[in-house]
Amino acid sequence: LTPPESYSAKFPHQMSGGQRQRVAVARGLTLSPRLLIADESTSMLDVSIRVSLLNMLTRLRTEEGVGFIYITHDLALAKYFAWEGRTAVMYLGKIVEVGPTPQVINSPQHPYTRALLEAVPEPDPELAAQKKAAGGLLSAEIPSLSDLPSGCTFHPRCPLAEDRCREIIPVLRTAPEASAQEVACMVVTDPQPAASAGTAPGGGGPP
Ligand code: SF4
Repeated sequence: LTPPESYSAKFPHQMSGGQRQRVAVARGLTLSPRLLIADESTSMLDVSIRVSLLNMLTRLRTEEGVGFIYITHDLALAKYFAWEGRTAVMYLGKIVEVGPTPQVINSPQHPYTRALLEAVPEPDPELAAQKKAAGGLLSAEIPSLSDLPSGCTFHPRCPLAEDRCREIIPVLRTAPEASAQEVACMVVTDPQPAASAGTAPGGGGPP
C-alpha cells in the first residue's frame, strides 16, 4: 500500500476490501510466524487483486519459508496455491479426502471431490458439457449441521450411495486406485463388503 502515509491513519471502513486483506496479512506477518492460517483470504477481491495477493502469499511461502493452511471453497484456487502441497477436502466438518494436490485434482476419488471439480467453471463448451454429463449429485440441499444424516453424511446427495452408506460412518483409508490419497468412502475403499468385512451383528462399522 503506497505511499504508506496515505494509509497509516485510515480506519478499516476507509479502505477497500483488497486493501484490508493486505493489511490483515501484513499484521499476521509482524510476528514472523512459521505458519499462517488464511481463511478465505481472497474471497471478497476482484480477480486482479486476488492474483496479486496470491502471488504475494506464494512469495512468502517460497522465499521466507512460511507455512500455510489455506482454507477456501474454490478448488481452482486451491490448485493454484497448493500445487506443491497437500489438499484436504471437507464435507460437513469432516475431511473426506486428503493427499498431494496434483493427485487430488487429477484423480479425485471421493464423490464429493469429483462434484466440486465438476463445479469449477470450464471455458471450453465441449468440456463443460462432458463435465455436466459426468456430474449428478442427487440433491443440491446441504444437510443441517445440527441434524446430520445417519451413516455417511454425504449419502442423501451421493450418486454412488448404497444401503450400507445409511448405517456405517466411513473413515479415511488409502484409496486402492490412488495410494497417495486417503478417502472416507467405503464404496471406493471397500467395494466388496461381503468378501472383506463380514457384517457383524449390530453393525460392524466404525463408531
Ligand atoms: S460412503 Fe457411500 S454415501 Fe458416502 S461418499 Fe461413499 S458411496 Fe457416497
